[in-house]
Amino acid sequence: MARYIGPVCKLCRREGEKLFLKGERCFSPKCSFEKRDYAPGQHGRAASRMRSRRESDYARQLRAKQRARRVYGVLERQFRRYYRMALKRRGLTGLNLLQILESRLDNVIYRLGFATSRAHARQLVTHGHFTVNGRRTDIPSMILKVGDQIAVREGSRKLPYFKELPSLAEARTAPAWLERDVKNLTASVLRLPERSEIEGFLNEQLIVEYYSR
Ligand code: SF4
Repeated sequence: MARYIGPVCKLCRREGEKLFLKGERCFSPKCSFEKRDYAPGQHGRAASRMRSRRESDYARQLRAKQRARRVYGVLERQFRRYYRMALKRRGLTGLNLLQILESRLDNVIYRLGFATSRAHARQLVTHGHFTVNGRRTDIPSMILKVGDQIAVREGSRKLPYFKELPSLAEARTAPAWLERDVKNLTASVLRLPERSEIEGFLNEQLIVEYYSR
């Protein structure tokens, strides 16, 4: 599945807020957004000033959709596919959409504290370091279901990164909808996340409005 391979910090500057796409760096003074919090490009400062002054409904809906896409590292076609899946599920479409995005394998690995960012989790998955229900997988976009079991593959456990991972992961908190055994590097999905357990700065209502136009 294709992915965005351009400069990542520019995405935060384009959205006008930190999206935490780079792991530890996002919490350090090296964060580009701390130095330049205006949109990228020659007219970036002017564009940011204009945005704060007046923004059409369409612009707000578009930015909400782009922000969510960038946070989860999903391209447009895949994101639209998730929206169609969300429409078919019972309940609120916006919440369904966020739950689908949260259920992606790369996001779950990140949430478990097994990777520093979603991009890092994606790389670990594509390198085949994880199993789902006992089967090796290299598909970061795999949508997990309640009851699915995730584990670090037996052959990967002797790699330096995974040897250190239990102590690193211990320092990171995991959400209540996931159960993890840090010592054995295994985890399971207990339930779908509630809205309060998903990034508050995402506006699913505006995303639904964008696709309902
Ligand atoms: Fe965004 Fe992280 Fe880059 Fe800062 S370091 S601009 S939060 S991706």
